[in-house]
Amino acid sequence: MDLPLPNANILSRKSAIVRRLQSVLPADAVIHDPAETKAYECDALSAYRCPPMIAVLPSSTEEVAAVLKICHEEGVPVVPRGSGTSLAGGALPTSDSVILGVSRLNTVLETDYDNRFIRVQSGRTNLSVTGAVEANGFFYAPDPSSQLACAIAGNIAMNSGGAHCLKYGVTTNNLLGVKLVTMDGEVLEIGGPYLDAAGYDLLGLICGSEGQLGVVTEATLRILPKPEGARPVLIGFNTNEVAGACVSDIIKSGIIPVAIEFMDRPVIRAAEAFTKAGYPDVEALLIVEVEGSDGEIAEQLSRIRAIAMRHDPVEFREAKSADDAAKIWLGRKSAFGAMGQINDYMCLDGTIPVSQLPMVLRRINELSAEYGLDVGNVFHAGDGNMHPLILYDANKPGDLETCEALGAEILKLCVEVGGCLTGEHGVGIEKRDLMGAQYNATDLTAQMAIKDVFDPKWLLNPAKVFPLAASESRRVA
Ligand SMILES: Cc1cc2nc3c(=O)[nH]c(=O)nc-3n(C[C@H](O)[C@H](O)[C@H](O)COP(=O)(O)OP(=O)(O)OC[C@H]3O[C@@H](n4cnc5c(N)ncnc54)[C@H](O)[C@@H]3O)c2cc1C
Repeated sequence: MDLPLPNANILSRKSAIVRRLQSVLPADAVIHDPAETKAYECDALSAYRCPPMIAVLPSSTEEVAAVLKICHEEGVPVVPRGSGTSLAGGALPTSDSVILGVSRLNTVLETDYDNRFIRVQSGRTNLSVTGAVEANGFFYAPDPSSQLACAIAGNIAMNSGGAHCLKYGVTTNNLLGVKLVTMDGEVLEIGGPYLDAAGYDLLGLICGSEGQLGVVTEATLRILPKPEGARPVLIGFNTNEVAGACVSDIIKSGIIPVAIEFMDRPVIRAAEAFTKAGYPDVEALLIVEVEGSDGEIAEQLSRIRAIAMRHDPVEFREAKSADDAAKIWLGRKSAFGAMGQINDYMCLDGTIPVSQLPMVLRRINELSAEYGLDVGNVFHAGDGNMHPLILYDANKPGDLETCEALGAEILKLCVEVGGCLTGEHGVGIEKRDLMGAQYNATDLTAQMAIKDVFDPKWLLNPAKVFPLAASESRRVA
């Protein structure tokens, strides 16, 4: 994976830049000792590492604006960072950049239950947003599996989703407004605690923009009343294809479960060994969760049972208690960690039309055999958001390159069947060079023209999202 060569001129001015940053931030908020900047050398795509020149940890929008103003004047690239859980390398620094971490921006600024919103600083973790409102019977719907750690800032930048987004939508469907600081230090308010802001949908543009357009310091989020009840069922199948066909039939029937999750045998075995969740040893497993009143749950589950039975499942296990439900979810929620016990892995993220699931799963198996690397599948099947996990050995020469080549084939397959290179993890550095498989040169130029407006000097997260060759003239200028 190529990163642009560091700018020697910037590196030679490091001491002066540090002094300027120290003039607007407390001493402990400017990290410049190489032993300490190493802590920011990667995110969750840990195959790629590069310590930044400096890391800063501002505590307010004013401090963020002051940092950006200095970096703008000095011509220094800035990489915004939430909690560093990106699986696409979105928060990977370059060696001449400043990492701008928002972890100290973590306060709840306002809660309004009558109008169902909460306003938080963007470094607050996803799960702690629900934590702030659950005593009053509310929750924040988007629930990435990393929700204990990941920040709302990263969720907005990546337009993150989660297991329960089939019913409630992803971040963009639950975001009402942001405070955004542009690269030259200007503070913008976009959207707000009402349903549809006047003018162009700039909020839609910011959500999913991967730290390319500005630094989000505050977010107004929709909160929802907790449902009366929820119940998952676990359905086991003898083949991936049949499980995929069952997902397709549930969606076709018009039922909207709150989640439909898929795990294949390698992931089921790893999760079972890791968590002892009591999973059956089957080829494919679905977790389907529905919610509502007791009557609504019973009605939806009986329809789902009828559909599943048409596909001859090996097992159909309905949770009878909160304990049963927690056990059904335990293996799924721990699946990534469990796979990490087996080997290094790269987690892909592509989206396909649900009806293509059986064919795509079959083709992934064939590609896995061709490339000689095992692939486990665990994903949000209801909305076709796939997460093939390619196992490789980081210490074996050539394995990472084979893994990248296999990953590229799988993501191109997603595009070929009418899907998309990204689902919920963004493009980052991981899929940057594959963008040409989805977009032609005119499309990419139009997308880059948007960055030109917000960040004319191309200083924000400049080596991401767009193929390096396509963005070179802008970055160099
Ligand atoms: C085990 C595991 C499970 C995961 N499960 C899911 C899942 O179910 N669903 C899902 O969608 N993702 C998942 N992810 C991916 C990741 O957690 C999400 O992409 C998350 O939103 C990243 O948040 P973060 O705070 O860690 O952001 P970071 O990794 O710090 O940054 C991500 C991107 O956001 C940008 N950014 C950060 N802060 C700001 C800011 N203030 N302003 C502008 N841009 C900013 C960065 O520059 C970068 O491009 C998972 C990751 C792991 C490790």
